[in-house]
Amino acid sequence: MSFLDTIRGMKFFDMHVHMTARTTDDYQAMADAGVVAVIEPAFWLGQPRTGVDSFRDYFASLVGWERFRASQFGIRHYCTIGLNSKESNNEALAEQVMEILPLFIYKEGVVGVGEIGFDDQTPAEEKYYRAQLELAKEAGLPVQIHTPHRDKKQGTSRSMDIALEHGLDPGMVIVDHNNEETVKEVLDRGFWAGFTIYPFTKMGNERMVEVVKQYGPERIMINSAADWGISDPLALPKTAALMKERGISDETIRLVTFENAVTAFAQSGQISLADFEQPIDIDQSQRYNGSSVLRGGQAPRVDKSSTIIK
Ligand SMILES: [Zn+2]
Repeated sequence: MSFLDTIRGMKFFDMHVHMTARTTDDYQAMADAGVVAVIEPAFWLGQPRTGVDSFRDYFASLVGWERFRASQFGIRHYCTIGLNSKESNNEALAEQVMEILPLFIYKEGVVGVGEIGFDDQTPAEEKYYRAQLELAKEAGLPVQIHTPHRDKKQGTSRSMDIALEHGLDPGMVIVDHNNEETVKEVLDRGFWAGFTIYPFTKMGNERMVEVVKQYGPERIMINSAADWGISDPLALPKTAALMKERGISDETIRLVTFENAVTAFAQSGQISLADFEQPIDIDQSQRYNGSSVLRGGQAPRVDKSSTIIK
């Protein structure tokens, strides 16, 4: 039996996935597995950018072409916009990026400032993390925090300390990439706790099942963080299937794979639970600025809920 049989009829919200780095096959597989929405946080591209225009085009693609591409597979695409921690270390460029962020964070589909926070925990990272917390506060947007992979426990505590220092409500802050060492403090302090399922390393999904058994569903949400590296865009539906096989209730699964993320990011005013009552019609004959997901000669998939019979 495939995991797809276990989760048939469930819907999922992958609140951290870098679709720009993924293929149309991934979109189709995610849609087939019940992923109805994604959040794509702005991050680094695997190598450093050399100019502010590369950031400008990247942010524009997150609110434009990528959002359109997702819609062609029936998936709602949201994003968070921010200067990632690694590239905060190029201060001359970081200053220029800070100047263009306000041009993007108010656009349709932007549900927060992210992913921001610490990588190597340098002074420059701290400076731009603080500046972006202020930006989020001013805009009334949730914050999506990337926690460091090295010195994680201390880096996570420090990220939360600084957010509180800037007067952010913990209920507006999603602390991501948690593990068993960080989760208790994040929940105790009233923040949302995101968990990334990393294949072959760090947080596998059997560990995730144990975390949910221990802490319950409140303020916990799971994501794939799939990107251009070795990662799995189906991590969320697969983890839901594993939770179900291991006796976790459908209601708990729904909260940690769908509803908690909607609730947290709905504070942006850009998403609501009601949005998900209707599936979106897929019409692959549509174009975005003249471009389509189809290649010459391919037949568009057009699903109209009412009429067409093929
Ligand atoms: Zn990421």
